[in-house]
Amino acid sequence: MLLGPPGAGKGTQAQRLERAHGLVQLSTGDMLRATIASGSELGEKVKGIVESGALVPDDIIVSMIAERIEQPDCARGFILDGFPRTVGQAEALDAMLAEKGTGLDHVIEMSVEADVLVRRISGRYACAKCGAGYHDEFQKPAKEGVCDRCGSTEFSRRADDNAETVRKRLDAYEEQTAPLLPYYREKGLLRSVDAMAPIDQVTREIENVIAGGEH
Ligand code: ADP
Ligand code: AMP
Repeated sequence: MLLGPPGAGKGTQAQRLERAHGLVQLSTGDMLRATIASGSELGEKVKGIVESGALVPDDIIVSMIAERIEQPDCARGFILDGFPRTVGQAEALDAMLAEKGTGLDHVIEMSVEADVLVRRISGRYACAKCGAGYHDEFQKPAKEGVCDRCGSTEFSRRADDNAETVRKRLDAYEEQTAPLLPYYREKGLLRSVDAMAPIDQVTREIENVIAGGEH
């Protein structure tokens, strides 16, 4: 599990872990954006909430994850990115994993100073075709305007990556998600990496934590 505020680099590192370890990245934010894009009833229901920067109710998120982890591609393990975000979600996850006879191997806090987050989020974009993540300053494609991974020339920016919504998302993190740090610390699961460091160095720190073995 990667834990940290919006813009900490969870998605960036989850994409790398996915490729390096053959695990699946489970991003509830990505799932919600796909649901919204599908135009389903559920998508209509959550669209306003996501665009406002508030958290989607726990019951919706928990059933999304419960369904997702039953898929065959999750059998080898998965990387949780952006879930859980409340103590209620964390408790539901514990129950779900216990029922499957499994548990969390690593909970990794991506520790960052708040003042870099707005800059990271406002420069963020992704390949419209394969979802590879980029940044205007910190993670440019090797050839300008061409995705390193799939060669596409189309990119997109998220509707909620604007200054006003970002502030609300950071408040939601402080109020509702930060209590997960003591929750996992008390269980002896929490490890922290310096997410202020350049992207490659953060990857190395995470790999070191993982190499340290299961808890
Ligand atoms: P999160 O998933 O935690 O919201 P992202 O992984 O999307 O965050 O990262 C936010 C933006 O910051 C992206 O554009 C990414 O390229 C960039 N970024 C990620 N990690 C770092 C880092 N260590 N240093 C500088 N920029 C970073
Ligand atoms: P993210 O892509 O992780 O930055 O999430 C984008 C938005 O989706 C958040 O601001 C929330 O509105 C919503 N969201 C994503 N994951 C969760 C979650 N686990 N619980 C509640 N809301 C979520």
